[in-house]
Amino acid sequence: MLVNYVQSHNSEFKFPKMRELKINFFFCFNNDKTVPTPGDLKSHMYVHNGSWPFKCSICNRGFSKQTNLRNHVSY
Ligand SMILES: [Zn+2]
Ligand SMILES: [Zn+2]
Repeated sequence: MLVNYVQSHNSEFKFPKMRELKINFFFCFNNDKTVPTPGDLKSHMYVHNGSWPFKCSICNRGFSKQTNLRNHVSY
């Protein structure tokens, strides 16, 4: 039901939804992901451009948040 609606009314359905989301969420145009803050969107964008702000000095793995890197290093 919902899928059919989205497919047959794609542009009409999406545009007001995006405007609505802009009020409370920040919107990723790459994969339709929404995040609550500009900082979260910035972190999320590293998924797409492949350049992570925090890197493990041992295995060079990248992380979007320093806490994630800390967890990784402590294991
Ligand atoms: Zn995205
Ligand atoms: Zn590592």
